[in-house]
Amino acid sequence: MPLPAPRPSPGVLVLSTLADYIPELITVFAVFFVADMVYVLDHYFVHYDRDRYRKTHARHHRRYNGPKSGPQLDAFELSTYNSAAFGLLVAMSVLTLFTGNVGFVAGAALKWVHSLVFHCYQHGWWTGVSIRNVRPDRPPASWGLATASYHAWHHSNPNDTRFTFAESWAGFDRILEKLHPWLIRFTVDARAGRLYHLPARGERPSA
Ligand SMILES: [Zn+2]
Ligand SMILES: [Zn+2]
Repeated sequence: MPLPAPRPSPGVLVLSTLADYIPELITVFAVFFVADMVYVLDHYFVHYDRDRYRKTHARHHRRYNGPKSGPQLDAFELSTYNSAAFGLLVAMSVLTLFTGNVGFVAGAALKWVHSLVFHCYQHGWWTGVSIRNVRPDRPPASWGLATASYHAWHHSNPNDTRFTFAESWAGFDRILEKLHPWLIRFTVDARAGRLYHLPARGERPSA
């Protein structure tokens, strides 16, 4: 009578199950990465669009620089985040239906959760205290995760030459700093001739 095959250990089982889902896991990461890059780019562009900044983003900076009042994200911000995330989810659901790869819809869902939960966590770091009174240290020009204090710096120093637009991976800011002399020419303020100084190629960002 043949001996029963030895049962694989739980570690081996987990690894082999993960290996089965490598294409899906890569897709989740790729969808999240691209969606997050679009958010960071939009954040950069709104800072160089005087009218859109006043109408949409200034409230976010104001809320945390004065005495804090109101929820972490107000009704307008919630609806902006939710409608952008919902649009992405619908588009990615279609891709999942066509390809059978659940990574598309999972990546979109992950980005939605990140926008709401992680951003609130970042603000929660200084809840109740005006960010000017917290005085976070200037973050290093890192390529790591955008921590709560990293995000806090953006609120109190939105025009710093060290970019801190990112809310997940600080590397987006390092790349933006390099692209800035070229990219700024595509911003609304630059096109409208509202910037006093356009940086030369290779010049560091300036306020
Ligand atoms: Zn901002
Ligand atoms: Zn914020």
